[in-house]
Amino acid sequence: MRRKPANKSEPLVSSKDLSARNIALAANTLADLRRAAAECKACDLWKTGTQTVFGEGASKARIMFVGEQPGDHEDRAGHPFVGPAGKILHKAMAEAGIDDTEVYLTNVVKHFKWSPADRGKRRIHKKPRYSEIHACRPWLDAELRVVRPQVLVCLGATAAQSLLGSDFSVSRQRGQLIESSLAPLVTATLHPSSILRAPDDESRHLQIRAFVDDLKKVARFARKRAA
Ligand code: SF4
Repeated sequence: MRRKPANKSEPLVSSKDLSARNIALAANTLADLRRAAAECKACDLWKTGTQTVFGEGASKARIMFVGEQPGDHEDRAGHPFVGPAGKILHKAMAEAGIDDTEVYLTNVVKHFKWSPADRGKRRIHKKPRYSEIHACRPWLDAELRVVRPQVLVCLGATAAQSLLGSDFSVSRQRGQLIESSLAPLVTATLHPSSILRAPDDESRHLQIRAFVDDLKKVARFARKRAA
């Protein structure tokens, strides 16, 4: 689980990080995990992100949604899925009959990775590297262990490929039930941020409809597990 050090004399992670990650392995509550993750320096993203954006939601949520990483809004607010993509997710959940109180929202990477725009002050989202996703994985594993969702939903390719394998194709396999030890039912759909990038209103509308349909399947899976 540990990255290779840059050189032999450089410690891989500080003793503080190790204790935070040990808490990730031992903690039994989300509050303990959140406190420990706030101190995490297991990869370099803590240096540029404003704060750790840990998962939030029901401690025994039936459905866990996992995205890629917090975005600009989330980084500033310290909460996941509160920006434009989060608004699409919450609206689609409501249309699909999924109540906010039965979900837990998180990301495979807990710090915002960005680079400055060529002009202006905008912070441009950058895709996390494998090493960063790998470094952050203990936090997600701990969230899964504590929340124990019945249905795990990967949002977008980064989450799906890091949890279901690099061959996973969201465009081909979205909405399918995937065999996994992560949760009793695991599936994937697109990340709501991709809807924001739709080229025109018509394709945006179609993507939203397909996204809501995927979430309706998720709601059915969750109901079936509860029955
Ligand atoms: S992205 Fe994850 S592993 Fe990296 S510093 Fe943040 S919490 Fe730690």
